[in-house]
Amino acid sequence: MHIVVCIKQVPDSAQIRVHPVTNTIMRQGVPAIVNPYDLFALEEALRLKDRFGGRVTVLCMGPPQAEESLRKCISFGATDAVLVTDRAFAGADTLATSYALAAAIRRIGQEQAVDLVFTGKQTIDGDTAQVGPGIAKRLGLNLLTYVSRIVEVDLDARRLKVERRAEGGVQLLDTALPSLITMLEGSNEMRFASLDDMLRAGRFAVRRWNKDDAGIEDVSRIGLKGSPTVVSKVFGPTPRTDKADMQVVADTNVQDVTLNLLQKIFTAHPQIEAGLVERLSA
Ligand SMILES: Cc1cc2nc3c(=O)[nH]c(=O)nc-3n(C[C@H](O)[C@H](O)[C@H](O)COP(=O)(O)OP(=O)(O)OC[C@H]3O[C@@H](n4cnc5c(N)ncnc54)[C@H](O)[C@@H]3O)c2cc1C
Repeated sequence: MHIVVCIKQVPDSAQIRVHPVTNTIMRQGVPAIVNPYDLFALEEALRLKDRFGGRVTVLCMGPPQAEESLRKCISFGATDAVLVTDRAFAGADTLATSYALAAAIRRIGQEQAVDLVFTGKQTIDGDTAQVGPGIAKRLGLNLLTYVSRIVEVDLDARRLKVERRAEGGVQLLDTALPSLITMLEGSNEMRFASLDDMLRAGRFAVRRWNKDDAGIEDVSRIGLKGSPTVVSKVFGPTPRTDKADMQVVADTNVQDVTLNLLQKIFTAHPQIEAGLVERLSA
């Protein structure tokens, strides 16, 4: 079984600040991490490798420093790592990113056919959740989004059954391989890296592909040129001015406390009292 897991290197959002004057994101000194959602995808892929054997290739499009994130994935047990990196990819929006990643997966598939592609649910910086579906569409893969559990994989029949978290319930989906799964957070717990794998990761030769190695056929569809998205404005949320009103209640009688609170609400918002009286007397 050959699984490709797409991982993105992102700034640790817990440490990001928005500049108070320019409203731009202040990235200086912010450490880079593997997008946390992608670790759930990686763990699920590694579990399938443990069960069925085969390979897990981790794939990232990003600057040369993103190699560190791929090395981290190797330390968890991934078999191979490919970094798609080229100045020509700079400024890519989700359309151009999914085009480039799809091309790279096609190229990886020429070495060994790919049965499954995993992505995270979304990233913590871009947050669009568009890249996984974009890759699936371009490669003609069956798309399974928000997957919370892989129920069954039948390699002989080339079929896959998963649970998908949907609004109001869980869907049980049955489809054919090859597929692309966007994995939901909290669906598993990332394993610890073994000492052997950590040592292997340190020595591992991450493969670096430029646009030609990645099999990009149309350079007008990558990077800024291939990105029709325009960011018209970036702004931080307006700080709220209204504050919660703390009521100190000496009385422990629930009825009195309730009446007391209602009295205060009706004094501050007489229209609520009027509306309530109207409804009760109707
Ligand atoms: C409106 C807008 C404008 C933007 N403009 C620019 C710009 O001008 N310049 C710029 O550099 N960036 C820009 N970006 C960011 C860029 O679009 C994203 O970094 C990139 O397309 C991935 O999108 P995302 O972070 O929303 O990923 P999502 O779609 O949320 O990611 C889903 C999953 O896809 C996979 N994935 C996503 N990206 C990668 C990757 N690079 N490598 C491997 N796997 C990946 C991961 O598994 C991830 O969990 C813009 C984003 C938006 C929303």
